[in-house]
Amino acid sequence: MEKILAGKTGVILGVANKRSLAWGCARSLANAGMRLAFTFVGERLEKAVRALASECSGSIVLPCDVTQPEQIDAVFEEIKTQFGFLDTVVHAIAFAKREELQGDFYHTSKEGYMLAHEVSVYSLTAVVRRALPLMEGREGSIVTLTYIGSERVVPNYNIMGIAKAALEASVRYLAADLGPRGVRVNAISAGPIRTLSASGVKDFNLMIDHIAATAPLRRNVTAEEVGDTCLFLAGPHSRGITGTTIFVDAGFHIMGT
Ligand code: NAP
Repeated sequence: MEKILAGKTGVILGVANKRSLAWGCARSLANAGMRLAFTFVGERLEKAVRALASECSGSIVLPCDVTQPEQIDAVFEEIKTQFGFLDTVVHAIAFAKREELQGDFYHTSKEGYMLAHEVSVYSLTAVVRRALPLMEGREGSIVTLTYIGSERVVPNYNIMGIAKAALEASVRYLAADLGPRGVRVNAISAGPIRTLSASGVKDFNLMIDHIAATAPLRRNVTAEEVGDTCLFLAGPHSRGITGTTIFVDAGFHIMGT
């Protein structure tokens, strides 16, 4: 593959294991020559993330629970020390209580509502604020991950649908703020893919089956396909695109049923 991102650097938040969409993004970016910083949450995931990161030459691995502002500060201080600058941020983080990803949405607790928004939405803005000084003037690109449950009612997706709507609105506001500074902000709306987080949504397998039966391409998408769209959004071929949500969902979003 042509190394179109040689000499560029990026940070990937949200690798839990080899099924993670963040890992699909990391592989596409690393294969194109980008040097990467990976973050992990807690000691439980450190070993797995370090093992995956070792496949990407020159990468570094740092702890970051996005509910801990001092950990986010430390990530960007370390990136400044090790890389000196930053071209790409991939934000692939979400969390909601398992009991709130089933049944009626109106049962959502205030605590669960706030937690989902803190981890899945506010974290993008918190990260962007720290990343910006390292990205300005480098035609940087920020990419986050969303889902069609933001604009349509998907059974059991509940609080995460509300959070994704706020995340997509954040992308638009951040794109307007950062555009004059030469940094683009976009979202990828991925179709359902079996990952650790996805397994928390009740009846997730029914969603997978429904897409395979009804999407124009009559199949589900892969983390590699999401990763390649991330590569497009991080690289020069998307230089005219910001504030947008791109669907990587085998065309499912155009269907009426
Ligand atoms: P995943 O592999 O489980 O990744 C989710 C990541 O978020 C994990 O690394 C998780 O770490 C991390 N995270 C949770 N709480 C965090 C915190 N406080 N601080 C930092 N990181 C935290 O699942 P995924 O499906 O790839 O999800 C990645 C993104 O894609 C999410 O935004 C998700 O909503 C989005 N997405 C997924 C699908 C799908 O079908 N899989 C479809 C569309 C969009 P822990 O494991 O430690 O919690």
